[in-house]
Amino acid sequence: MESVPSRLSLQSLARASLPSLSRPSLPSPSLLLLHRRLTAFSVALPSFARKQSLAASPLRPFAALSEQSDLSEHTAAIIDGKLISKQIKDEIASEISRMKDAIGIVPGLAVILVGTRKDSQTYVRNKKKGCELVGITSHEALLPEDASEEDVLRLVSGFNDDPSVHGILVQLPLPKHMNEGKVMDAISIYKDVDGFHPLNVGYLAMQGKNPLFVPCTPKGCLELLSRSGINIEGKRAVVIGRSNIVGIPAALLLQKQNATVSIIHSKTKDPEKITREADIIIAAAGVPNLVRGSWIKPGAVVIDVGINPVNDPTAPRGYNLVGDVCFDEACKVASAITPVPGGVGPMTIAMLLSNTLDSAKRMHNFK
Ligand code: NAP
Repeated sequence: MESVPSRLSLQSLARASLPSLSRPSLPSPSLLLLHRRLTAFSVALPSFARKQSLAASPLRPFAALSEQSDLSEHTAAIIDGKLISKQIKDEIASEISRMKDAIGIVPGLAVILVGTRKDSQTYVRNKKKGCELVGITSHEALLPEDASEEDVLRLVSGFNDDPSVHGILVQLPLPKHMNEGKVMDAISIYKDVDGFHPLNVGYLAMQGKNPLFVPCTPKGCLELLSRSGINIEGKRAVVIGRSNIVGIPAALLLQKQNATVSIIHSKTKDPEKITREADIIIAAAGVPNLVRGSWIKPGAVVIDVGINPVNDPTAPRGYNLVGDVCFDEACKVASAITPVPGGVGPMTIAMLLSNTLDSAKRMHNFK
């Protein structure tokens, strides 16, 4: 029978086609051609084999997203965040069951939600579902919009002292009458699974130090790179955005892994020129389609964090979610890219669950 590429061979071929990352030089046209052939080859597989190889590899050929696409035009492999996050959740579930069997401990995550914002309620619901899926006990505290800052601080203090809680998350944003910084600082650094505590951020920035927790979304970005076999050391990376929750920690993480990092923000002059030098781009600006194909060096890897609702009267909900990167243009230039949705998004909750498990293991000295 015609040999079907195994998970490894497909991945290693895909890796070979990420030229600017696997070797210092620019991608040669022949390597880009190899990637195009790989993509075309995968799509030419019989459908059962294609299903298997696509399910096994986190790097999906572009055509898997849209079988109608003109293959001759597309080169980027798709970094499948849904698939990778599922693998991670499976790993977490099996670790939790190993810990429960060995020492009778189940990790616990406390979530504090103040008010009735629909988006916050959705995030909290999804976090709860994620906990249930892997076997983490979730403790939920819901407070009304007009609750006082002291009410929230009291809850935080209670969860800090509760040995069955290994992670505490305060859903942001808090109502305007509360001081978010003060509330975040009150969370024990040992239970700061969001990684926003100034001490954890400080350790992330310091040479020779490691934080107890890394913020979930940037951690998810790096995990996507790592699980797609993309080497970071020595590469030029550009992070677009400098927020405390995504841009800055993403840049610090890339730097910790020995990339040379530039940060672009709203005041940066000529962001296109700087971005075009990057082997790895992490876009987290919250501006739909900001990064055009012309901003991307051929063969670069693009991680698109942006989740931007864009009005579309023909869409079932009246809007579509798009990233910060113009996906269609980027696919023609990049070697690999995350889609929106289905890229970074599913990784954030997976990393929250992973941080909670790590916390429980650390507290109970379970290896
Ligand atoms: P944010 O706090 O609003 O920060 C945006 C950053 O982008 C700021 O540093 C801003 O620069 C910069 N920026 C804005 N416009 C720019 C432009 N035209 N050119 C260059 N830089 C620009 O946003 P965030 O919380 O980091 O989120 C960013 C995006 O990621 C949003 O779409 C958000 O929905 C998404 N997100 C996704 C996840 C996920 O799980 N996938 C999680 C969090 C956020 P200044 O500092 O100069 O203002």
